[in-house]
Formats: sequence, C-alpha cells, structure tokens
Amino acid sequence: MANFHYLDNAATTRIYPELMDTLNKYYLDVFANPSSLHKAGVEAEKAVSNSRKLIASLINAEEEQIIFTSGATEANNLIIANSAFKRAEPYMISSKIEHSSVKKSLNFYAGGNVHYLENDDNGIISDDFDLEELDKANFISLIMVNNEIATIQDIKNLVKQAKLKGFRGLFHTDATQAVGKIPVNVKDLDCDFLTASAHKFNAPKGVGFLYCKDLSKLKSMSIGGSQEFNKRAGTENVAGICAMAKALSKSCKNMTENIERVSKYKNKIVDYIKNSEYFDLTIDENVKQSPYILSIKSNLAPSEVLLHAYADMGIYISSGSACNSKNPAVSGVLDAINKAPTENTAVLRISFASDTIEEDIDAFILASDKVVERFVK
Ligand code: PMP
Repeated sequence: MANFHYLDNAATTRIYPELMDTLNKYYLDVFANPSSLHKAGVEAEKAVSNSRKLIASLINAEEEQIIFTSGATEANNLIIANSAFKRAEPYMISSKIEHSSVKKSLNFYAGGNVHYLENDDNGIISDDFDLEELDKANFISLIMVNNEIATIQDIKNLVKQAKLKGFRGLFHTDATQAVGKIPVNVKDLDCDFLTASAHKFNAPKGVGFLYCKDLSKLKSMSIGGSQEFNKRAGTENVAGICAMAKALSKSCKNMTENIERVSKYKNKIVDYIKNSEYFDLTIDENVKQSPYILSIKSNLAPSEVLLHAYADMGIYISSGSACNSKNPAVSGVLDAINKAPTENTAVLRISFASDTIEEDIDAFILASDKVVERFVK
C-alpha cells in the first residue's frame, strides 16, 4: 500500500486493480487494430463495440450515441468547435464556473460571443434565461458537478427552462465529475451532448466519451479514418475503452454504497471544519453537492503553503483544479462565487473515491490539527 493518503481524486483516481488484467489482455493478446479485417481485428472491434453497448446502457443511451475520445478535454473541445463551425457567427451561453477545457474553448471559438449566466455564491447557476440571449444562441454548455467546489447543477431543469423559453440550439453538459459517481441518465436529462472521462472513475487516463443524442448534429473535427461513425478519426484506444467500460460498470453497480461511504467521510471532515476557528466551508453545507468533493477555506496561510504542509505529512490534496495548478489565476471559479483566497488565506480541495478509506480521513484530520499548531502564532 502507498505510504501516503491520497485525497485528490477529483484530479484523478487510482485504477481498479482488476483492470490490469483487462489492460494486459488488450495490449498483449487482443492487440490488433479494430479496423483490420482479419480475425484478430474483428475480435478487437467486438471488444470496442461491446464496451460501447455497456457504457451506453449505463447512462441510458443507445450504442450509436457514444463517441470514444481521449478524455473530457477533447470531448469538450470537439463539441464547442462543432457548434462554432455550425454558424458564421456562433453565439453561446455558459457559466463562469466551467472547467478550463470549456471556458477556454468558448473563448477560442466564440470570442466575445458568449453570454455567461449568473450564479450565486454557492455556485448555483441561475435558470432565469434571458429571452434575447436564448434567441441569439445556438449552443449552451453548463457543468453538472463543479470540479473545484462540488456544486451540483439541476441540468434537467436547465435544459427544460431553456427549451420552454424557445431555445432551439444544442445543449451540452460537462459531466466529468458526475459519471460513475452520481446517477446520470441522458434520456431523463434531455441534453444533446454530455462528456465524461474514465480517469475520474478508477479507469485509465487518456480515454473518455462524448454522448451525442443525434449524431447528425456532430461534425467531425478529427479528419482521417472512418472510426467512431466517421466522427472521430484515429485508431481506437482499445485497452483504455474496455477498461473504461468495466470501471463504469463497477462504479455504477456500487454507486449507492460508494455514495453512502464517501458521504460519511465527507461529513466527518465537515464536522471537524465546523468546529474549528481556523477552517470554514467554501460553500453552504445545505447546497446540493457531490459527496466526492469538499472545498474548505482557511485563515492560516496561503493555499500553496498549506498544501505543502499537508504534503510534508503525506496528505495529498489540492487547491483547486489540477489542470490549473501551475497557473492558479486561470480558474476563476472561486472568483465567480466571491470566495477567491487572499494572499494570506487558502482554499483547499479534498476529494474522495470509491477506494478512499477511513484512515485517509483520520490522517487528514490529524494533519489539520498539526497544521493549526504550526501556523497559529
Ligand atoms: N471537466 C471537468 C469538470 C474536469 O474535472 C476535468 C478534469 N479535471 C476535465 C473536464 C478534463 O478531463 P480530462 O482530464 O479527461 O481531459
């Protein structure tokens, strides 16, 4: 076992150990190109197709609605580029609390033609769509579970409100921190596109998928072979796809008990935070939020200093999105909820996974006591 306590699972997770057998099988045995016509190729193609069926069934989609990608960043980029190229002058609606792969793609492809919906100080996005903005827009992208602060949006209601007010464009949700962790049913949500990433639910990095309600609405941005229904050229990551399908199946099967367990862990830390004068919760306890992510504030020292203090004690947490850890100014989520840390205060993210154990939580609490001892003068 590792000699550290890993509480940075929103950044990435450890793969389920049994997936090593799957990876071995598809790297060493069934390693042929799924587009090859010989028997070995057909077998690899079958494995990809079975994985597609399985993944589709787990989110209540159809097999031909799943496009495999290299992860959520690619899927988010693809769908935003797709919507940008649909019109000479695209107009998009989004929020200020999106992941950088959405936020920066919107800037890149639509520039100033993006309208940002209001959100409150807990990161809940307003469903009060402006009629004029909706009328102009051909695309909406809203995050389902925020990767920094855990807030869960009611995507079903947001889709419904937009449509009720006459929106006829395409609705996308970045469900990277939701899939495999909380129930996701695309038919119920009624969104047009949804993105997910395998490494957030104990599967390998570098593989994910895009759900497309209607494939005819998706233009290929990767040109070449006819893989993925002609929507994403390039030889499939067979081993990654098969491992992702297995991991999602296990994560969905154990979803209820995983939620119960991580909720207990999160609550244990929340109780500690509430009883400390040096820590506070970033968002209100009663806001609908993912049990897998907890954001806390501290008045003890800047984020980086505290992160290192925890890391020195073998506790691995983060200060926000791992994708922006080398450029903390980029995130903007904390700014958008008016909770950005000052130069003397910190915002820390503690995140859990199905393999988090109670000792990790107790170690974090013990380390927090030591951090207080060290920084209170
Ligand atoms: N969206 C969200 C909400 C995320 O948390 C992440 C990963 N931090 C991504 C997109 C990007 O995912 P990937 O690493 O698969 O590109």
